[in-house]
Amino acid sequence: MDDAEFCQIWRNFAKLIEENREYLNSLDAAIGDADHGTNMARGMAKAIESCDGANGGLRETSKAIAMAMLSTVGGASGALWGSGLLKLSASLPETRSCSEREFVESVDAFVTSVHDRGKANLGDKTMLDVFLPARDRLNAGVAAGESLLMLANELVGETAAWAANTKDLIALKGRAAYLGERSRGHVDPGAFSSSLWFKSLNQALEGKRA
Ligand code: ADP
Ligand code: MG
Repeated sequence: MDDAEFCQIWRNFAKLIEENREYLNSLDAAIGDADHGTNMARGMAKAIESCDGANGGLRETSKAIAMAMLSTVGGASGALWGSGLLKLSASLPETRSCSEREFVESVDAFVTSVHDRGKANLGDKTMLDVFLPARDRLNAGVAAGESLLMLANELVGETAAWAANTKDLIALKGRAAYLGERSRGHVDPGAFSSSLWFKSLNQALEGKRA
């Protein structure tokens, strides 16, 4: 993966988040404080400025994206995405391109950070209900020699389904957990926005803009 493709993931993500901003806010309104779309849109708008301004390698570019999320997004998603992306950045090489395996390792580092920091597990109705199984699929696929494009293609549908499945769960982490049983019946906003990241990845690999 080269730096142009890498930045395209984030541009696509910023666009999809912006297009879904009100929907994400409405999901968060049901089980939180109605700001997830606004939070992510603000962070990603700043992040792609960093991407456009970056002329270093993958590590530097992704670090700028992480810092943009940390400095502009409050709340759980800012801390989790921001600190996770710092780990992703540290795991990427300083060069302008990396292998598919290195890219998948950096996604792994992101997910491990979100997991360590937020302490949510599978089924707790969070962004990890998308990222944990997606990470496992990516790791297994790359180990088996499958291409990132094929994996990303498959994960578009799978992550959308995993996000939709959070509707039936009771939230055990984050703001929604205060609602207990009443959190059931609503899709988790962070899980939905995470599924948009896989759509962004797939579009970037296919050479498309969102
Ligand atoms: P806040 O909850 O502070 O208002 P956001 O609304 O931007 O922040 O983000 C909420 C999302 O963050 C949730 O939908 C959930 O997916 C995710 N989240 C919250 N707490 C955790 C956690 N401990 N681990 C993983 N994800 C979490
Ligand atoms: Mg919120």
